[in-house]
Amino acid sequence: MRVNAYAASAAGQPLTPTTIERRDVGPRDVLIQIQYAGVCHSDIHTVNGDWGQQPFPVVPGHEIVGVVAVVGGEVTRHQVGDRVGVGCMVNSCRECVNCLNGDEQYCLNGMVGTYAGTDRDGTTTQGGYSTHVVVDADFVLTVPDGLEPAAAAPLLCAGITTYSPLRRWGAGPGKRVAVVGLGGLGHMAVKIAHAMGAEVTVLSQSLKKQEDGLRLGADHYYATSDPDTFEHLAGSFDLIINTVSAHIDITAHLGLLAVDGALVNVGAPAEPFSVHAMALIGGRRTFAGSMIGGIAETQEMLDFCAEHGIGSEIEVIAADQVNEAYERVLASDVRYRFVIDTSTLA
Ligand code: NAP
Ligand code: ZN
Ligand code: ZN
Repeated sequence: MRVNAYAASAAGQPLTPTTIERRDVGPRDVLIQIQYAGVCHSDIHTVNGDWGQQPFPVVPGHEIVGVVAVVGGEVTRHQVGDRVGVGCMVNSCRECVNCLNGDEQYCLNGMVGTYAGTDRDGTTTQGGYSTHVVVDADFVLTVPDGLEPAAAAPLLCAGITTYSPLRRWGAGPGKRVAVVGLGGLGHMAVKIAHAMGAEVTVLSQSLKKQEDGLRLGADHYYATSDPDTFEHLAGSFDLIINTVSAHIDITAHLGLLAVDGALVNVGAPAEPFSVHAMALIGGRRTFAGSMIGGIAETQEMLDFCAEHGIGSEIEVIAADQVNEAYERVLASDVRYRFVIDTSTLA
């Protein structure tokens, strides 16, 4: 099946309209008519070649919501007409210890990314900036009725990437959680941590988005450009989620943790961080990382968001506005996720 899509032909090139081939629907596959695809900063890192060698052309997009159009003969989990979602991965080995533990994202044989990945049939995967996609039913999520489809799309990456560490590190009543960077991931972290019952602080570069941050569920808001912030808040958080797409001073942020506190890094800048040992050993602190979440956990997150009425704050765009949207994300001028209406690709 030949479908319309937007692709970057080489690293650093703008996205342009193209067509791509989608495989035939196999017995365990689902054909999804895509309605919305969120624009994640990882799409931009990929298109810009920030993370090194990868296949081009690439059709980005791993925050996909759509409707099931066809199901393979062995599929029982989804039916034609169901509202479904696809996140950052479309396959894994399902046999290794991590897959068996529900951590498919850490598959020892390599999870298959939704784009720029090599699927088990040897083909290169292409993502959601497209009208249709064929995905193994086990990697297709159910989008609960209560969620508005466009606002649900960013949950498939930004939502799960923040939900997973917030759950794992026990965000909840009595926990002081700071979120560094109020972008796509950051604003979801604020909403989710607030819904979990934690006391939430935003650490943003400036106070420009303070009103939004407080409306989204933050209790406090500070500018990291103000050196007083680091003095005033020293030792005051149980958990810090760093969502920044660029290099930040990790050592300075570790100083904001209470004893036994953890700074969990989800931002993925190209440059390495440096960490001063004293910032970790003084205060028995943890510096950790986390990548998206497993399939069952992603469904749990979608159900949690439906139950708490949580969607992403979005700006819906036509496909031909995507290059401009990338520029705005790079300038931290996103409130708080661009979502492509993929009907504009038809
Ligand atoms: P985004 O919407 O661009 O948000 C990033 C935010 O970081 C910006 O809004 C800005 O917030 C802050 N920021 C940007 N440049 C900065 C700088 N130079 N110094 C300090 N703060 C800066 O990006 P996103 O889509 O949320 O993604 C964030 C990062 O997470 C990306 O690197 C992405 O690749 C990564 N990611 C990781 C995973 C994972 O599984 N671990 C999943 C998805 C994405 P303020 O304006 O509030 O300062
Ligand atoms: Zn993403
Ligand atoms: Zn595996």
